[in-house]
Amino acid sequence: MKNIVLLTGAGVSAESGLATFRGPYGLWEGHRVEDVATPEAFRRDPGLVHAFYDARRARLETVKPNAAHAALARLDAEWPGELLLVTQNVDDLHERAGSRRLLHMHGELTKGWCLACGERFRWRGPMGEDACCPSCGEQGQVRPDIVWFGEMPYEMERIDDALQACDLFLSIGTSGAVYPAAGFVQTARHCGARTLEINLEPSLGSFMFDESRIGKAGELVPEWVDEVLQSAHSRPISR
Ligand SMILES: [Zn+2]
Repeated sequence: MKNIVLLTGAGVSAESGLATFRGPYGLWEGHRVEDVATPEAFRRDPGLVHAFYDARRARLETVKPNAAHAALARLDAEWPGELLLVTQNVDDLHERAGSRRLLHMHGELTKGWCLACGERFRWRGPMGEDACCPSCGEQGQVRPDIVWFGEMPYEMERIDDALQACDLFLSIGTSGAVYPAAGFVQTARHCGARTLEINLEPSLGSFMFDESRIGKAGELVPEWVDEVLQSAHSRPISR
């Protein structure tokens, strides 16, 4: 087993205290998804959308990576083969834990995107409607660099290539409800990978996985990383 693709979702961040993407009543911290997470919402009421993401960006400062983030960073550092961690999460907890081979398919809370010049850049603190682009200087054209509902996730080609080449696909803390991420398991399976999910409850696509481990990511991911690294160290990887 050489190539690993990992997919993480809201469940991993939830164990650090960040609200999950959709609450039990379809709300996200009191807001309907269509009021804060679509391009239409941003056109209609940019102030509300900025306030929502500014609050989430501020909340990031108050949380820490958990044992699942730490274990995945350790795997990244020690795994001798190819590895790609694809996260649906827009927080920076994987980076803060030390993950390097990482891709944010739904964008990042800590980045802005200028609609005037197209540049993307780091952003700390509140953004608001009057934010000034550090690249072109235009004011009021900066949006959170977040992939909203109805927009195309980032780097799908690179993700698809990695899925087709992987030997093991692991999905952690995702509901299996949001496409295209929900379809990754099918691609990996179709291309011959072993598939495993770790989730608090069986996901919607649970039947597509070779194995499901049900429980907290903060407990099950470190156990799984130990198993994988032990097997890698006891059997030399053929390249
Ligand atoms: Zn600009």
